[in-house]
Amino acid sequence: MTKFDYDLFTIGAGSGGVRASRLASIYGARVGVAEEYRVGGTCVIRGCVPKKFLVFASEYGHAFADARGYGWSAESVAFDWARLIENKDAEIDRLNGIYIRNLKNAGADIFQSRAIVKDAHTVHLTAEGRDVTAERILIATGGAPFVDETVPGHDLGITSNEVFHLETLPKHVVVAGGGYIAIEFACIFRGLGCEVCLVYRGEDILRYFDTDISVQVHAELKRQGIRVVTQSVFDKIEQLDGDNKRVHLSNGSHVDTDLVLWAIGRKPATKGLGLESAGVELDRHGAVVVDDYSKSSVDSIYAVGDVTNRVNLTPVAIREGAAFAETTYNDNPQKMDYTFIPKAVFSQPPVGTVGYAEHEARRKYRNIDIYKTNFRAMKNMLTGSEERVLMKLVVDGDTDRVLGCHIVGAEAAEMIQCVAIAVKAGCTKKQFDETVALHPTIAEELVTMKEKFKPPM
Ligand code: NDP
Repeated sequence: MTKFDYDLFTIGAGSGGVRASRLASIYGARVGVAEEYRVGGTCVIRGCVPKKFLVFASEYGHAFADARGYGWSAESVAFDWARLIENKDAEIDRLNGIYIRNLKNAGADIFQSRAIVKDAHTVHLTAEGRDVTAERILIATGGAPFVDETVPGHDLGITSNEVFHLETLPKHVVVAGGGYIAIEFACIFRGLGCEVCLVYRGEDILRYFDTDISVQVHAELKRQGIRVVTQSVFDKIEQLDGDNKRVHLSNGSHVDTDLVLWAIGRKPATKGLGLESAGVELDRHGAVVVDDYSKSSVDSIYAVGDVTNRVNLTPVAIREGAAFAETTYNDNPQKMDYTFIPKAVFSQPPVGTVGYAEHEARRKYRNIDIYKTNFRAMKNMLTGSEERVLMKLVVDGDTDRVLGCHIVGAEAAEMIQCVAIAVKAGCTKKQFDETVALHPTIAEELVTMKEKFKPPM
């Protein structure tokens, strides 16, 4: 009999923590899991899943307008924010219940409590006022929204934690940031009819993406009436009467609004977890430093998901959690493979991308060929919408391997999941070309791009 209360104690019941805990339990480990908020974590409770519901809701805003071109009359449509939030919350409650059931059915004990690491084998449960011991501890606490607290009035703004629970739909929204969350929520609110102003500190939004994606998304935001202010940050937020606020920008201008949304990144959630005193090394962002098998600098303490700040995406956290459980509890050593992970930004239109951006490929390979196309999709010929589709392939000119695929346009996220299989498998441009097009679709353009792109002289 082991001297510990548990074989594994997991802190954080999000995507990574739940997957690791369930698998470990299934493989026979005695598992405890502590969660201070709700089982399901950011993705299910206040991230990807509820966000996607809001994206669906807001897409109807465009769809009703577009439907006219197809003969529909949709003049008297009305939108009810409270009903949307109620329906969304009911679905999140259902998913939360499934996550709890799955953990329990696998045999894990769940503690509704904040947990603090006391030493290499001990965790303190604050809600219960007691310690539990475990042979191994898994940190899976994810990340938390970052707010620039140096900005006077910063607490007049909300983050993605609160945005899912607004009681009423704002009239005017000012968003800080130019990354995933900023772009997605700018589009959500615009589709629902709000005035939206996006304030980004740099020149090109989505700057970690291929430059053509940044440029295309920027153009699409502007086309739908989102005001994009670049090279600016918030200087100060001031309370006006009622719900109104005035956001002073570093370019000297100001914007009046009834909702300010901070979307300037997330930080690993390690504050106050007791990790440093237990000897766990953190990097300068506060992320747990881990090896290829997700082990920290303390032999019995592991970490998976956003708290390690590797690739901060739900499916990655799930795979990291699974690899940890396979390695540790199923005698099946597994390392996470971080190459060619497909990514999507659920802007409107959405972005789907996999592999190397052109600038990354040019740094790594001698000879890069680019194929790209930019067109209005067939559907928009009757709607009158000027929305465009961008498709781009980055190809190794020496081997003909497709190194990257980048799409902005309707269903880009759905398309990129499938393209990612081919790109990860190492398909060549010739193999793309040999695949027969499926007509009429947007996706057919992926196999019909014949001409190498030559930049204008
Ligand atoms: P991102 O890292 O995507 O973007 C942060 C943005 O804020 C960047 O534009 C950044 O600018 C800017 N920024 C950072 N610090 C400051 C500052 N001090 N002042 C002003 N602007 C600042 O973070 P998000 O919060 O949008 O999302 C967090 C993570 O969550 C993402 O990285 C992603 O991993 C995940 N996520 C994934 C989604 C998906 O898969 N669809 C959806 C939502 C989130 P700069 O570019 O100049 O650094």
